[in-house]
Amino acid sequence: MARPKKYRMVEYVLKSLEFSPDNPTGEVEISMDELEAMRLADIEKMYQIDAAKLMGISRQTFGRILDSAHSKIADALINSKKIKTGNDGRCRVVKLMKCDDCGKVFRTPVDYTGHECPYCHKEHAHPLSSDPVE
Ligand SMILES: [Zn+2]
Repeated sequence: MARPKKYRMVEYVLKSLEFSPDNPTGEVEISMDELEAMRLADIEKMYQIDAAKLMGISRQTFGRILDSAHSKIADALINSKKIKTGNDGRCRVVKLMKCDDCGKVFRTPVDYTGHECPYCHKEHAHPLSSDPVE
């Protein structure tokens, strides 16, 4: 029996991107969760355990995703391959909200338009991150 799909939460949606050398010898595809793992670990410099929590996955899974991403990037750079990004369907896009009352930061589905804080239940939360690009 197949295991139920576990969605990974990513904060940003990127347009499909392609980076290509002049004469690519092939291509690698970086999935959205790999991109998000690199963003959190390599750009934001977060600890893996904290980044994993943000994505709703275990630290082990986070480490595996990050390793996979680094291998693909290395493969592309060393072997002159094109890099493509895309969503393989395992990712859900979220946005960050911050409550003005209790100061907690939390994630909601990107299409959530309410202002309720899940911690203090007041209606004083507002989006922290800019709207993602489709
Ligand atoms: Zn609150």
